[in-house]
Amino acid sequence: MNQTFKILSRRFLAAFSVIFREAARQADHAVLSRHIVALNKKTSSTDIINELSVCLKNTLNYRLFAFVVKKAAGGVDVWLDPGMYKQSLEHIILQDFHLENPADLTYLNHDFAPGDHRENKHQYISNLDHLNFYEIFEDNCYARLYMVPRKPVYAFHDEVVQLMLQGCAAALSRQLKIENLKTAAVIDPLTGCYNRREMETQLCRHIASATRYKNNLSLFMFDLDHFKDINDTHGHQAGDLILKEISFLVKDNMRQGDILARYGGEEFIAILPETGKHKAMELADRLRAKIAALKIPYNGKTLQVTASFGVSQLTSGMDMRRLIEDADTMLYKAKRNGRNTVMPGLIKVCPSLAVTI
Ligand code: GH3
Ligand code: MG
Ligand code: MG
Repeated sequence: MNQTFKILSRRFLAAFSVIFREAARQADHAVLSRHIVALNKKTSSTDIINELSVCLKNTLNYRLFAFVVKKAAGGVDVWLDPGMYKQSLEHIILQDFHLENPADLTYLNHDFAPGDHRENKHQYISNLDHLNFYEIFEDNCYARLYMVPRKPVYAFHDEVVQLMLQGCAAALSRQLKIENLKTAAVIDPLTGCYNRREMETQLCRHIASATRYKNNLSLFMFDLDHFKDINDTHGHQAGDLILKEISFLVKDNMRQGDILARYGGEEFIAILPETGKHKAMELADRLRAKIAALKIPYNGKTLQVTASFGVSQLTSGMDMRRLIEDADTMLYKAKRNGRNTVMPGLIKVCPSLAVTI
């Protein structure tokens, strides 16, 4: 009798567990369909990954979720939940993505201060023994999902993850294509600076804002000196390298809110919001000196170049065309004054005399 009861209760439990799992499976599939529909409406990579994390939280109630995307266009983005796993997971991510520097990772859902680690290593590190990972291969990105589930993972859970990942891969790839197209429309591919059209859009916006709030706005234009000779002597590729190096140097030495654009072949414009003419002239002169001092190794030789600058400032009633024209006139003067110079020049005040350079 006792034996019969045991057999019956085991069978009942087995049957109950099948029914229970089937009910759970149906519920998970319903959740999955909702999230897959939602994925297709997302308009940013961050929102797509967020949707994936919410779906997997609902179905697997993960302990740890990290999604790492390496974009073909450059950059590795990380979505991490919860943030306390940053330290223990970071070295795994760096290894898997063949990176050396944690600064190469951009965290999408956290702002970690340098050296930030709010993690009790002993408590959490053992969870990483259960770390699963799944991969996504798309033509414009490679991604890895790292996860430590809280529940036992049945075959249908694995199915849920795979289906959700397929939806996520398609949405992410499409979104990255849109982002690349948007970037291509405003960025000069050689130097990574804004292109002329985007510069004009941003300058219009800055002129309107400076006029409205009565803020200073200056601009400088610079043109590389005798650049044709450099191309003729060292070749076009050497010229291209110089254009890249000069634009990196200038960007590195401007404030974050300043805007650098490639205006034409070897001609650039910088928009300097909240900057008066004198400060703009100082900056231009500092950059002129840095450009002249820059030594660029190329094919066993050292390339050097100088640049001439023209500075202008927004005054009342001026429009975009006039502001650019003024800088262009000054640039022309700088060329006539012997090149490798800034116009108007800085007045250096000595105790008893003033000298214009
Ligand atoms: P100046 O000091 O009067 O400005 O003389 P310059 O030789 O720089 O001026 P010029 O206008 O005679 O020549 C500009 C040169 O810039 C010619 C052109 O081939 C070169 N250039 C323009 N765009 C590019 C580019 O994208 N790559 C390379 N390598 N050269 C370029
Ligand atoms: Mg030139
Ligand atoms: Mg030129």
